[in-house]
Amino acid sequence: MKLSFRTISQDEHHFQEKYNDVDFRGIVRKKKDTIAFLDAKISGKIPLVCDRCAEEFEENLNEHLEMLISDGFYDGSDENYDIIEAENGLIDFEIILQGELNLIKGDYHYCSHCVEKDTDFTI
Ligand SMILES: [Zn+2]
Repeated sequence: MKLSFRTISQDEHHFQEKYNDVDFRGIVRKKKDTIAFLDAKISGKIPLVCDRCAEEFEENLNEHLEMLISDGFYDGSDENYDIIEAENGLIDFEIILQGELNLIKGDYHYCSHCVEKDTDFTI
């Protein structure tokens, strides 16, 4: 789903995007002329590979996402939120979701077996 920057006002615009078993939904609203605020939830399941035993497993997602979207190039940063740039005046929720999923996949993940072992070890 894509939303044109021009059509966004200060009212909440609901959006929903789905990718395999992942559900991405929330609202966007205009904060400033060229900045929109996104408040969303990512839920569902994604396949991950355990960093310890290399087994594939499914992780339940329940992420709250808040970020700013700039209409075009944004020079600078924000103290509170990540800022992404919308290309061609379009907010592409599929790309935002893919980016977030890639971030999640890029983290370290342990499957439930390895997490248990880890807990045993610490105790
Ligand atoms: Zn494992």
